[in-house]
Amino acid sequence: MKLDVLVIAAHPDDAEICVGGSILRWCDAGRAVGIVDLTRGELGTRGSAADRAAETAAANLQMRLALRTNLEQPDGRVTPTVEARERLARVMRETAPEVVIAQHTDDLHPDHAATGWLARQAWYLAGLSRLAELDGSAPARRPKRFFSFMGHVPFEPTLVVDIGPVWERKCELVRCYASQLAPGNDSDRGQHFLFGADILSRMETRARFFGERIGVRFGEPLLALGPLALGDPSILL
Ligand SMILES: [Zn+2]
Repeated sequence: MKLDVLVIAAHPDDAEICVGGSILRWCDAGRAVGIVDLTRGELGTRGSAADRAAETAAANLQMRLALRTNLEQPDGRVTPTVEARERLARVMRETAPEVVIAQHTDDLHPDHAATGWLARQAWYLAGLSRLAELDGSAPARRPKRFFSFMGHVPFEPTLVVDIGPVWERKCELVRCYASQLAPGNDSDRGQHFLFGADILSRMETRARFFGERIGVRFGEPLLALGPLALGDPSILL
């Protein structure tokens, strides 16, 4: 299977919350988008792994993804082990995406940060031909571009995707994860959810802020690994 974009996230709602608008826009444009979740979110304060799996299935129906797979790493204990990074490198070689979008390496949640490092290491390893031969799977191929998406820790983005055209659909996508959005008991507040439990409202604040930075209603920030090549400067005109 050949992908255009591969999104790599720690938990089964991270991709939707952080880059769901970009994913919808690519899918709408007929691009082949895949998501790899590293865990099933079984350590989550709310909802069981079965709840999360059903919610992910509902979200998938709204995105027309080419692929969604799960590496079944232990939730709360994601670690960039040799085994995990080589499995992820294999996914990259086999799906041959042009662009990888993964969690940022700077994040308060250890799983998010570890997923960011795993993705960067796998991205590099995917281009090593001897490793591909040893693995006996698809030939070596490193995706052309690598971006990080924003979790807890803000960064100055390289670019902001205009998600205004799909904003309502992004909200519907995130509402699929009802177990994560449902009001919990009082002990949830500020304890399990670092910045409050209202994920949709926080998502909108961020989308409006970054949208404003580029003069649109809603935006999703991305950070490129290294400078972006501009072969034809007339693209800027
Ligand atoms: Zn997460």
